[in-house]
Amino acid sequence: MTSSSFSALGLAEPLLRSLADAGYSTPTPIQAKAIPHLLDDHDLVGIAQTGTGKTAAFALPILQHLAEDLERTPSKCVRALILAPTRELALQIFDSVQKLSAHMKLRNAVIFGGVGQNPQVQALARGVDVLVATPGRLLDLMGQGAVRLDRVTHLVLDEADRMLDMGFIHDVKRIVGKLPEQRQSLLFSATMPKEVAKLARDMLWEPMRVEVTPEIVTVEAIEQHVFHVQAPQKRALLEQLLKDPKLSRVVVFTRTKHGANRLAGQLAKAGVSADAIHGNKSQNARQKALASFKAGDCRVLVATDLFARGIDVAEVTHVVNFELPNEPESYVHRIGRTGRAGRTGIAYAFCDPSERSQLAAIERLTRVRLAVAGSPIRAPQEGEHPLPPVRDQRPQSRRRAA
Ligand code: AMP
Repeated sequence: MTSSSFSALGLAEPLLRSLADAGYSTPTPIQAKAIPHLLDDHDLVGIAQTGTGKTAAFALPILQHLAEDLERTPSKCVRALILAPTRELALQIFDSVQKLSAHMKLRNAVIFGGVGQNPQVQALARGVDVLVATPGRLLDLMGQGAVRLDRVTHLVLDEADRMLDMGFIHDVKRIVGKLPEQRQSLLFSATMPKEVAKLARDMLWEPMRVEVTPEIVTVEAIEQHVFHVQAPQKRALLEQLLKDPKLSRVVVFTRTKHGANRLAGQLAKAGVSADAIHGNKSQNARQKALASFKAGDCRVLVATDLFARGIDVAEVTHVVNFELPNEPESYVHRIGRTGRAGRTGIAYAFCDPSERSQLAAIERLTRVRLAVAGSPIRAPQEGEHPLPPVRDQRPQSRRRAA
């Protein structure tokens, strides 16, 4: 089913007002598919990645249900629980929930580790309608008696596959075990590995299934190019590309944390404002790097795959895959940092000869053959290092993926 307006989906007036405030005029495909099922109280499995509008797809119906039932939330109790794997994603979901519930009288809170717990404990003490939480801190606070989950009527598990990757599945199961049986449950995941499918079976009751394929993100809004380049020449290529001011807000992906640090340092030395973001950095350092990138003070953010999901920075002009990921799905998540919310974006892949099989896997998954970038943006000036030759070195016989 598709629907061309939010009011036709059956959303109430205070939500329609917030949607208008946010400038969302048309539901995205996941919203058009999921919202009617959720308003009808069904459980749901959503196969969708960040960038598809999935946050509003689950938040809007939950907010509507909570507002219909005006019971006051008792101290330390929670009515809707949203679990997210990272602090960044939790904050982002919380911001959306706040924005979408601006015209409703609901109390929302977000909790995550790595920061003092007192303000979180105080927020919980008053009772919370929507709580967005990372699993570890939630378990801590449950153990201390600062929060009770016996009044939860709605549960969302966001980025379930990421929870699994990060080793949180056990924590999630412990939390779910404390919830009342009678509830509406939603699980979102970009991919459906066996363990996540099993979790969905255990956690949900006769769920509806809605799916938005990543191709929608990659094909429609993002121009994709590949540079065939020798590994040692990748940095010179990047610096050359960065001479074009059109690359004004760029996310560069490397495979390792060490590689991200080194490249950010090298770019900074070459006079490009750059910072690195990855799991080894403290929460505060990550938050600072992200804030300065969002504000436009830092032009290039060098990131590992941890950053590739859940982060929503508007107006990323270019994504550079400095090294190709081993998992082709990661490529889709990486380039999804640009071309967001209907904007167009450009993605470059730097492919050295050892990465040909990763490139082939990406093209198979996305069903897109990346355009081979024929030449650098401009010829090198006198005294500059010439750019590496850039040409399609793949065998002519390679068949286009079906
Ligand atoms: P999400 O997948 O929830 O992270 O959403 C991706 C981006 O799309 C966010 O910047 C949202 O603010 C934006 N967004 C969500 N729904 C809509 C909509 N219906 N119209 C336009 N933008 C939207």
